[in-house]
Amino acid sequence: MKQLPPDTVRLLSSSQVITSVVNVVKELMENSMDAGASSIDVKLENYGLDRIEVRDNGYGIKAADTPVMAVRHFTSKICSHEDLEHLETYGFRGEALGSICAVAEVAVTTKTEEDDISTQYALNFTGKIVSQKPSHLGQGTTVSVLKLFKNLPVRRQYYSTTKKCKEELKKVQDLLMAYAIIKPDLRLMLVHNKVVVWQKAKVADHRSALLATLGPSVAANLLPCHHHQEQPELFLDGFLPKPGADYSSTSSSSSEKTFLFVNNRPVHHKDIMKLLRQHYIAQYPDDSSRNRFPILMLKITVSPSSIDVNLTPDKTQILLHNKEAVLTAVESLLVSLYGCTDPPAEKELGH
Ligand code: ADP
Ligand code: MG
Repeated sequence: MKQLPPDTVRLLSSSQVITSVVNVVKELMENSMDAGASSIDVKLENYGLDRIEVRDNGYGIKAADTPVMAVRHFTSKICSHEDLEHLETYGFRGEALGSICAVAEVAVTTKTEEDDISTQYALNFTGKIVSQKPSHLGQGTTVSVLKLFKNLPVRRQYYSTTKKCKEELKKVQDLLMAYAIIKPDLRLMLVHNKVVVWQKAKVADHRSALLATLGPSVAANLLPCHHHQEQPELFLDGFLPKPGADYSSTSSSSSEKTFLFVNNRPVHHKDIMKLLRQHYIAQYPDDSSRNRFPILMLKITVSPSSIDVNLTPDKTQILLHNKEAVLTAVESLLVSLYGCTDPPAEKELGH
């Protein structure tokens, strides 16, 4: 038996962390939000395969930190696993930038408040700086990712088909929409091949964010709902379809319009999604509603110590310590809105 060479280990583990264009965009946007950005521009060329650029107006990276910014397991967000108990940032593993460097060509341009000018750093396969030069950008950070998966030909090929490219662009837009809804004061823009695909200005609250993201007819049919519970403490804040308002999407590919957040993180949670769908659909006894996914947002806030977000590299799956309590609270919110205590079981929903 032989130990694998370090470069092989790096490529193997990085390609598990960085799996797609949307995954890169998510990691870079989360870094921008963690840096307090109020504006993020996402620019793609050739559906992100040739270039992904994420520019923010956040704090920037201090010159002293730049040598390790993309070295794996270096992070400014936590010091030890105990800090996960009160995690308030999206990132914490110090894994994204380093992993992206292993599967693409990466340059980071950054300027903090203290710096006179910005500096552009070119990074190598291991995340180390190979060259740097002065640049002209304002405060914040811009990360450019070129030739994604250049050293993983099978994966690059997989994402190169027209169908896959379009699906990924749609997923990137859905991702921006999710952050637009949960962070109303964030200005966002998505550009593909120099054409603006989608954008949203800074707005005051979740309702305005839903209006800007989903359009007036959907937003007008969403009702604000709140629920606060002690022991275990949890807050539910949502905009759910008014009873009788049929605002749903018919295909499962549109199910991303059920925007679910736990502690401001967009997540997939099968049991919560199932509950939302069951109670929504129970209003429509006829078969035509059976394949429908409600368009809504639900924001669940629990103590950071009661969730585990480190389940999957992309952090979209979470473990809830008090899952039953959360499900009961969500159910009581749904019952108070739709008045149905006995929704059809999932097996009857055509799934
Ligand atoms: P993590 O987000 O888990 O800390 P990353 O690899 O994504 O790990 O980023 C490494 C570090 O680089 C971050 O901890 C942060 O200090 C810095 N960084 C990355 N992107 C940005 C950004 N857009 N603005 C400011 N700092 C950043
Ligand atoms: Mg990060």
